[in-house]
Amino acid sequence: MAGRVPSQCAVCHAWPSQRVCDACAARFAQPAPRCQRCALRVPEGTTVCGACTLHPPLFDACMAAVDYAYPWADILGDFKFRGDAGWAGTLATLVRSTPRIEPALDAADRVLPVPLSAQRLRERGFNQSALLARQLAGPKADTHTLLRTATTQSQSGLPRAQRLRNLHGAFAVEPGRAAALRGQHVVLLDDVMTTGATLHAATQALRETGVAHVTAVVLARTGTD
Ligand SMILES: [Zn+2]
Ligand SMILES: [Zn+2]
Repeated sequence: MAGRVPSQCAVCHAWPSQRVCDACAARFAQPAPRCQRCALRVPEGTTVCGACTLHPPLFDACMAAVDYAYPWADILGDFKFRGDAGWAGTLATLVRSTPRIEPALDAADRVLPVPLSAQRLRERGFNQSALLARQLAGPKADTHTLLRTATTQSQSGLPRAQRLRNLHGAFAVEPGRAAALRGQHVVLLDDVMTTGATLHAATQALRETGVAHVTAVVLARTGTD
């Protein structure tokens, strides 16, 4: 999608347009019933999926704007590759307009983007979740408190139990900022959620610091756990 005229819709190429035109946003970002604890799609009328009923996640709630599928997977790839503020604004609007997400942002004391490892940050030059957090939450976006302490291997293709083991202790809270977090409500923001192992490990670090309530918010959720 690189090189397209900025005023063309990235999906249907209609123009003049936003990055994604209203018709494509309406077509591809229909709100779907999702489990309130893990954001997997559930049948209409179900609030919590069977897996979360048996083993509730560490975070209190989880919300996703869209499925990790066409056209959002391509758009996310473009955003991660180029890191431009235009996409951050468009995607932040998409997240904010998802039912229940705006009230969760309003109720949060701060919005913490999931940090990249130092190595990944050097390679990419920016953290796409931090760009998104700034667009979404302005002064509530906090990129200094949650730290990634370990460089972890690529997690793709690994089963969830293995991912959780690899990520245990991968996050920490900046010691000088820990006291301020106690009793707070935070939104933990990531771009994509697959098994939830990353969000689980980050939540663990926040819980150990005394954070009262963690809502995980992701742009895109893969369909299966
Ligand atoms: Zn369009
Ligand atoms: Zn669930």
